[in-house]
Order: sequence, then structure tokens, then C-alpha cells
Amino acid sequence: MQPTAYLKRDGAELPPPNLDEPRYILAANGLFVERRSEIFTTSARVYTHDLSLDDHAESCRLHCPKLPRAMTRLMLGFFKIANAVHGGEVALVLLYEPERRVYRWHCPDQTVEQYYSSYRKEWIADDTIRFENPLELPEGFIHFGDAHLHHGAPTPSSLDMLDDQDGMHIIVGEIDSRPRYNVDFVIDRRRFRIAPESFFEDVNCTPFEKVPRPWIDCVHTKRRTQSNTDWGNNGWNYDPWKPGKSSHGRW
Ligand SMILES: [Zn+2]
Repeated sequence: MQPTAYLKRDGAELPPPNLDEPRYILAANGLFVERRSEIFTTSARVYTHDLSLDDHAESCRLHCPKLPRAMTRLMLGFFKIANAVHGGEVALVLLYEPERRVYRWHCPDQTVEQYYSSYRKEWIADDTIRFENPLELPEGFIHFGDAHLHHGAPTPSSLDMLDDQDGMHIIVGEIDSRPRYNVDFVIDRRRFRIAPESFFEDVNCTPFEKVPRPWIDCVHTKRRTQSNTDWGNNGWNYDPWKPGKSSHGRW
């Protein structure tokens, strides 16, 4: 019979071991084997190399459907148009309804930051996008992940790595030539790389030429000035084009 294994949870009391039934305890400070006989009860630390165990590997297999071609085209169209208007990054939130196995895009209010280039003598968009996840979701939908645009290659930045919560994270690069993708599924602090072909129904599709107008209106700009470079509330309250935007969200 296989010995039972217990997790020693914070503050939880475990029942005493059964007579002549060794068991394992996995605790914050290691693995222990516990035994109780007519003569003794013991708890001894053990090391996994003493247990003749086989190796186990990390893995990730998705059971959700691929992202439909039309949704990919819509995302690309929005990224391309918004980028042409604001010159910066842009993002969408991906929702999923498990029961019907369908996806939906949610366009969040988002802010592109601009800084003044004295060399080019104009305001230039920074390589970051700030947006909020929806507080309320359509009935039956869950928050599944997000997609955002990068200038150049779709490689996750160190900020993306720090910031990404559990879920699917899509980065699109080179939107003006042939779009390329980076797809990561993050769970339990592990970032699993997903081959774009296994998530997109069509990795070669082209952007739609039109996207919903309200989506474009969701993208705001904010100019970084001497007075708001510390990202304090003063900074985020200053927006010469769309005053009063929230400072909450994600980088
Ligand atoms: Zn990024």
C-alpha cells in the first residue's frame, strides 16, 4: 500500500498517525516520514533521493479552443490603428466563457505615456501601456488574459515578466510588416511558452481595416513632464488631452 502524504498547512493540526501505517508529511522545512508502532511514534526528516522516486516534469496542455481567426484580425486591426493614432503600445483584455467555449475581447480604458524628445522636437510614445482589468464581467465569462502590442520584436519585457498574473498573455510585434506573436500561459508563478500555432486558429491572418470606434476612444495619452516623472498622483492627474484619468491599473 502506498503511504499517505499530508501537506502541513499553516497552523493546521494533523491527526496522529495510524498504527503501523507510515505516512509522509510535506512541510515548509522539508519532507518527513512518520511512524507509529506499539513501541514508538516518530517523525524523521527524509530526503527525496532516499525514496527511489522517479522524476516529474513541468508541463502545460491547454484544453480551451484556439482563438478564432476573426478575433485575431480584430485584435491586429485595433493594434495597428491605435498605434498609428497614438504611436505607442496598446492592449486588449481577453475574456472566455467556459460553458460555450467562446472568447470575447474587452477594450479597457488605457493610457499611453509620451515624453518630449528634444532631438526630434516632438512628443513620443513610451514603450508601456497602462490599463485596468474589467471590474465586472459579462455573465458566464472569466478573465482569461490579455494581449498587447510591442514595437519591434514580441519579446516579453522584464516589466511584463513581473506584471503578468495567472492567465494567457499575448504579445504582438512588428504590426506594420508581418505580425509575430509571443504567447505565454502563466500559472502558479510559472510562465509556459505556447507555440502561437497551437493557440491562434490562423497565425498568418491580416488585420481588419476597421475596428469599433469606441475602442479607439479608450486609448488616452499622457505627457510626462518634470512635475510628473515620479509617477505620483500629481503625475497621473495631469493629462493635457484627457484630464482626470485614474492612476490604477497595470504596466
Ligand atoms: Zn510588453
